Amino acid sequence: MPDSTALERPNVAMTGPQLARLADLIKTWGRELGFQQVGITDTELSAHEAHLDAWLEKGYQGEMGFMTKHGTKRTRPAELEPGTQRIVSVRMDYLPAEVESTKVLGQPSRAYVSRYALGRDYHKLIRKRLAQLAKKIEQEVGEFGYRAFVDSAPVMERALAQKAGLGWFGKNAMLLNPKAGSLFFLGELYTDLPLPIDEPFVQEHCGSCSACQTACPTGAIVDDKVVDSRKCISYLTIELHDAIPVEYRRAMGNRIYGCDDCQLVCPFTRFTRITQEDDFAPRHDLDRASLISLFAWGEAEFLDKTAGSPIRRIGYERWLRNIAIGLGNAPWSETVEAALWARRGFPSALVREHVAWALEEQRLKRADRIATDAS
Ligand code: SF4
Ligand code: SF4
Repeated sequence: MPDSTALERPNVAMTGPQLARLADLIKTWGRELGFQQVGITDTELSAHEAHLDAWLEKGYQGEMGFMTKHGTKRTRPAELEPGTQRIVSVRMDYLPAEVESTKVLGQPSRAYVSRYALGRDYHKLIRKRLAQLAKKIEQEVGEFGYRAFVDSAPVMERALAQKAGLGWFGKNAMLLNPKAGSLFFLGELYTDLPLPIDEPFVQEHCGSCSACQTACPTGAIVDDKVVDSRKCISYLTIELHDAIPVEYRRAMGNRIYGCDDCQLVCPFTRFTRITQEDDFAPRHDLDRASLISLFAWGEAEFLDKTAGSPIRRIGYERWLRNIAIGLGNAPWSETVEAALWARRGFPSALVREHVAWALEEQRLKRADRIATDAS
């Protein structure tokens, strides 16, 4: 892999002071590379392993088979990458300037796309920066073992970040930082360097607040820090391949890719820092587009406009599935009905079923309107 060196070689002995200096340098380089925070932790995750096991036992992962497929590699970093001694955990803010999150949620004819997915895919950018960080370390200490991860392998990224001092687990199960909220990406550099570790972030600031739990449209936050993915709109719109259960469709509103409600209502979100990365700026007006305009994209247009975007992974069929629900939830209008009618014969049975549901929702609203006008 271009961004890794196998963690097999015993690390060249460095003294404690040399390692401490290197840890300071890593944090400075990380910030210079655009990470807002860098922390270092060890590989001990047994408490998190117990939480994960309990969560999986309840089936909260839904269809996300990848959550169980890797056994203990997720919670034991040295099993995933032999030789790993430390994890450098980084975070990068992603909220672009001038996006109107709550305003769009309140306008049911517009589409809401999760704020992290408005621009270019973050995986590539962050992995590249981590590789640059590794290069700088190599220039300082010579060859060393490392591997970079960005939300792409069995890695307990939030647990590692908490242990590295980057924030605490909020009741919405997101990692929260008191000065930056939770709208940031995480990345990790697994390494064989025995660097000094940072203090974990132990003070939890949620207190008596439960705004996220109250705001969740589908009641997916079933306990403090526990999300039942099967009810979560992020899972339903992105991870789930089949039909979206009817019981959640109305609650989805106009959220067509992901959901940020439990973060947007969080009092710490007001400390969100605007990203400095051009790559995260909204593309194709995804922060304000109407449902109808996105529903009109043909497959070639979808593939073209989502090239290099995280949205690409759901594919065209699920894109239409999600937007159909948004249109069913939109206020009644002839234009919405016409857009749905135009997709009624779409080749995919999945899309057709969601379109039929949406048309029925529109019909009910039209009937209501007629009844109100007549009274
Ligand atoms: S992302 Fe949305 S649906 Fe999922 S837990 Fe948060 S508020 Fe609930
Ligand atoms: S909304 Fe309140 S309870 Fe939820 S994560 Fe934020 S501070 Fe914690």
